[in-house]
Amino acid sequence: METRYIDSDLLIIGGGSAGCMAAIRALELNPALKVVVFEKGDIKYSGSIARGMDALNIVAIPNFTSPELYLEAISLDCQGVVDAAPSFEMAKRSYALLKKLEGWGVYFPVDKEGRYRTLQYHPKGKFLTAMEEPNLKVMLARRAADKGAVTINRVMGHRLLMDDGRVGGAIGLNVRTGELVVCRADAVILSAGGQARFSLPNSGYLYGTFDYPGNTGDAYVMAFETGAKLTGMEHSRRAMLIKDANMPLLAITITRGGRMLDIFENVLMEWSCHDNRKTDEAFSKGWGPLRIRLSHLPEETIEEIESILFSTERPVQKRFFRNRGVDFRKTDIELWPTEYQLCGGHGMSGAVVNERAETGVPGLYAAGDAACVAKQHLTGAFVFGEIASEQAVDFISANRGARLDREQVRQAEILRDHRFTSNGRQIDVRQLEFKVRRMIGDYVVSPKNDYKLKRWLEWAERFRKEIENEVIVRNGHELSKLYEIDNIVQCGCFSARASIERKESRWGNSHLRTDYPERDDKNYLCHVVLWKGERIQDIQVGKQPVIGLSGKEVHR
Ligand SMILES: Cc1cc2nc3c(=O)[nH]c(=O)nc-3n(C[C@H](O)[C@H](O)[C@H](O)COP(=O)(O)OP(=O)(O)OC[C@H]3O[C@@H](n4cnc5c(N)ncnc54)[C@H](O)[C@@H]3O)c2cc1C
Repeated sequence: METRYIDSDLLIIGGGSAGCMAAIRALELNPALKVVVFEKGDIKYSGSIARGMDALNIVAIPNFTSPELYLEAISLDCQGVVDAAPSFEMAKRSYALLKKLEGWGVYFPVDKEGRYRTLQYHPKGKFLTAMEEPNLKVMLARRAADKGAVTINRVMGHRLLMDDGRVGGAIGLNVRTGELVVCRADAVILSAGGQARFSLPNSGYLYGTFDYPGNTGDAYVMAFETGAKLTGMEHSRRAMLIKDANMPLLAITITRGGRMLDIFENVLMEWSCHDNRKTDEAFSKGWGPLRIRLSHLPEETIEEIESILFSTERPVQKRFFRNRGVDFRKTDIELWPTEYQLCGGHGMSGAVVNERAETGVPGLYAAGDAACVAKQHLTGAFVFGEIASEQAVDFISANRGARLDREQVRQAEILRDHRFTSNGRQIDVRQLEFKVRRMIGDYVVSPKNDYKLKRWLEWAERFRKEIENEVIVRNGHELSKLYEIDNIVQCGCFSARASIERKESRWGNSHLRTDYPERDDKNYLCHVVLWKGERIQDIQVGKQPVIGLSGKEVHR
C-alpha cells in the first residue's frame, strides 16, 4: 500500500463541533493558511451534533447572568475540582459566540421583549440558552469548506509526528483501505472528541451509545503519547436517558416542567437536571424504571418538547416513540442508565489545557470533549475551537518549518503491516471489542474498588497481546476497528490508574469507591493527572492543585 503525503500549516484532528469551528477561525485570521482536517467519518454529519442541536448549555448573557456566577455554578457542579481560568474564559466569550452564530443564521428563540429563552441546567444561574437549528452541523461543515479548509474524510488520526519536542503533524489511517496518510503541519489541534465506546450500553449494541460512537478516546491517547498530561480520567460518567435508545431528553423535558419519577411516584427531578443524586439512589434501590412524565404540562409545552425532540435533537425519536405507542400526553417515557463514557464536554476527562487551549507540548492544542474544561458542552467546543486556532496561528507564524521524520512513518507502517493479516489469527475484531467493553463495565467503572481496578490492569495486558497477534484483520475497516480497540483498552487503563489514585468517592456514580465510600476534601480536592513514562503502557500518576481565578491554589 502506498502512503500518502500532504503538507499543511495547521492540522485539525476531528471535524466535529470544535474542529469545524477551529478551521473556520484559523482561516478568518489568516485566509492564506493551509488548513487540513482529518475526519474519521464524513464531516457533514459526524460528531456529537450529527445534525442539529437545541441549546447552547452555557451562555452568560450580559445583565442577566455573568462569568463570575458561572464559575460558582461549575465549581458546585464539579464539587470544587475545576480550574477557574479556562471555564471563566469560556463563559466570558459565550455571548459573543451566540451573536456570531446568530450572524450565521442560527436561530435562538426570543420572547416578546426580545429576551433569549433561558432554562435552568446548572445549580446556579440560567445559562442554558435555547437554540433551534436542525442543520447546525451541515452549516458548520459548509462554512469551513467555503473558507478553504481541506477535509480528508474517513481518515482516523493515529499518531502525532514529533520534531525535536514540538509537534510536526500526524499520521492518519484510512478507515476503509488501511492506507496511511501523513500530514506535516506546524501546529496540530486535537478535537477528536471523548471516549463514547467505553463500557457497553445496556442494549449490547457496540455503537448504540449516547455520545457519537466514532469517538474512541483517540485524542486522549495521541495527546498522552506526545507527553501531554491527562486529567479527570477517573470521572467515568453515565446518564439516565431514553431506555433502549440512549437518546438525550433531560435538558429538554425537565427544564420545561417535565417530572422524573420512580415507581412510587416520588419526584426525583423537576425544572432542573444537574443533580443526579436522587436518580442514582432510586435506581440503585431498584425503584426503576425511572420515568419522565409530561402529561401534566399544557399542550403547547408538550408540542414544543416534541418539536425539539423530533427535529433538532434526533428525528428518529419520532418513529421510535410512535412505534412503541408512546404519546407524551398519556404515556410516561421510560429511562435507563446509559453506558459509561469519558468526556470533557459532559464530564471532566481530557487533556490538560489552560485558558489558551495549550497542552504543554509546543504546537499542540486541544479543544472540545478531547480537553478537560469541565462540563464545557457545546459552548466550550466552539469557544475553545476558536481559542485553539488563535493560539495555533500565532505559533505557526513564529515557528514555521517542522520537519517530517520518515522513521516515525516507517514505524507506523511496520505496525500497520503486522496487524493487517488474518493468517494464523483467530479472534474476530467485534468480539474482542465486546469483551473489552464488557470487562470495562465489570472492573473499571462504579462501583469501583482497588481489587477490581487492578484486575482490569491485568486484563489489559492480555488484551494488548491479543490485539497485536491474534485478531483477524481482513480489510481496512477491520484494521481501523482494531486501532480503536487499542485506544479503548488504553483509556480503560487511564481510568483505572486514575481511579486507584483517587482513594475517596466523589461525583456520585461517576467515581464511587466501595473501599473508600466517603468524600475526602483534605486529600483529594485536587486533580489526578496522568502522563507517559518510558513506554505507552507506563502511566505515571500524580496530583495537581486546583487553581483559582487569582492564579493561586485553592485550599479548603
Ligand atoms: C446527543 C448529544 C446531545 C448534546 N446536546 C447538547 C446541547 O443541547 N447543548 C450543549 O451545549 N451541548 C450538548 N452536547 C454536548 C456537545 O454536543 C459536545 O460537547 C460537543 O459537540 C463536542 O464537540 P467535539 O468537537 O469535541 O466532539 P464531536 O463533535 O463529537 O467531534 C469529534 C469528531 O472527531 C472525529 N474523530 C474521532 N476520532 C477521530 C480520529 N482519531 N481522527 C479523526 N477524527 C476523529 C469524529 O468523527 C467527530 O467528527 C450534546 C452531546 C451529545 C452527544
